[in-house]
Amino acid sequence: MSLESSHPVKLNELYREVIMDHYRRPRNKGTLEAPTVSIDLNNPLCGDEITLHLDVEDGTVKDARFSGQGCSISQASASMMTQQVRGKSVDDALEMAEAFKQMMHGDESAGKSLGDLLALHGVSKFPARVRCALLAWEALERSVEQLP
Ligand code: ZN
Repeated sequence: MSLESSHPVKLNELYREVIMDHYRRPRNKGTLEAPTVSIDLNNPLCGDEITLHLDVEDGTVKDARFSGQGCSISQASASMMTQQVRGKSVDDALEMAEAFKQMMHGDESAGKSLGDLLALHGVSKFPARVRCALLAWEALERSVEQLP
């Protein structure tokens, strides 16, 4: 399901470009040989599936990869999320997850520190798609809960 087919409403052109770029050329897509934690999550409303793999060492996200399939929003969000959390402390990653959630619930200013992820703020106007954008971040939060 593409953004275009599900929403005839025009999103900001630049932001749409960023989303489609991550969708077509996802960053950090794949698996890790020995991840510290792996989580599968899906969004039955849209059919999105994400498996997140994290390599965490001394409280730092050394590596993050994702696999799965789904709509452009879910896959682009996962691509951008892995890009942003790699090299960050687990605490900083969780803070970003919180900021992202606030942005997706309408607080655009919360997205300022989120780099490319700001491109997803327009999705907050489409409640049915918010879950698509949040899926990867929920996977991140659940992964952290399961850290040894
Ligand atoms: Zn979706």
